[in-house]
Amino acid sequence: MRILRRQQTTYALSIVLSLLGVTFIAFTIWKTWSTVSSANDPLSTFVTLLGKERFSLVPGFEFELIYLFALGDAMLISGVVLAVLSVQWLYVPGKVVWFRCPFCHKDWKSSGDKALVHCPHCRQLVHPTLVEKRP
Ligand SMILES: [Zn+2]
Repeated sequence: MRILRRQQTTYALSIVLSLLGVTFIAFTIWKTWSTVSSANDPLSTFVTLLGKERFSLVPGFEFELIYLFALGDAMLISGVVLAVLSVQWLYVPGKVVWFRCPFCHKDWKSSGDKALVHCPHCRQLVHPTLVEKRP
């Protein structure tokens, strides 16, 4: 239950991060749109504007738009990565299974569904076979 709650927290965090990231990126596009949309070369105009345009998040503190854009990108990327990770954690439960090494025929306990692992007994890289055994 504790693990599940942590996964949900991670998932919620990833959604918040992605939304903030999208908001920041949308804000930079919205700020520069009037110039960019009428430019001959929208992409380079956008990049130039990122370094020139300023905004104030907190009164008295001005930032260049590029910081907001970079922050938005970073948040969006980390949000997506966190979402992928938390979804993987949600759908691949840490089920404990027994593996058997095809070389030394020894068993060991591990979690998840592993295709290629190092045998903890003989240190070989093996495709272990699953063994039916109650942990
Ligand atoms: Zn082995």
